[in-house]
Amino acid sequence: MRTAIFPGSFDPFTVGHYDVLESALQLFDKVIIAVGYNSQKQGFFPPQTRIKIIRQAVAGLDNVEVCAYSGLTIDLCRDLGVKHIIRGLRTTTDFELESVIAQANKKMAPDISTTFIPACQEYSFISSTVVRDILIHKGDAGQFLPKGVEIGKFLAEREK
Ligand code: ADP
Repeated sequence: MRTAIFPGSFDPFTVGHYDVLESALQLFDKVIIAVGYNSQKQGFFPPQTRIKIIRQAVAGLDNVEVCAYSGLTIDLCRDLGVKHIIRGLRTTTDFELESVIAQANKKMAPDISTTFIPACQEYSFISSTVVRDILIHKGDAGQFLPKGVEIGKFLAEREK
């Protein structure tokens, strides 16, 4: 079974991430979405909420798992016995940053490879940062979030 890890902050998971995930499922039998967090840096949504959002987004998809991790992605790959990492590419800037990370990972873990999936044109401008800005200012980010995500519920939880 070919399994890949799709790591990211996913703060929150967007339609752009969902599109990359759907493409990854064409290439791999199973995709594990890994929510990376840094205990020193607080995100907008806590990692457990990011996971709940992703679970709602992927409810209709088979062969997707979600987990949280901190530390190096290659260490997570080794812990889970996975040899493929998925990253999405939106712009040439993404490519420049991502190729450096992929090369460093390859040097440290030659048996683990990175597969880049280009953003579809429609979603290439969408980022979690833009979605967060809309949410912070009480705008409607619905069209940038995958179907089934009850963002209002998670925002209310966050403000408690
Ligand atoms: P990170 O902080 O690790 O970059 P993100 O959650 O911002 O985490 O992104 C996770 C992955 O998804 C990255 O590879 C990023 O380039 C990709 N990505 C983010 N938004 C999009 C999009 N709209 N289309 C395609 N890929 C995307």
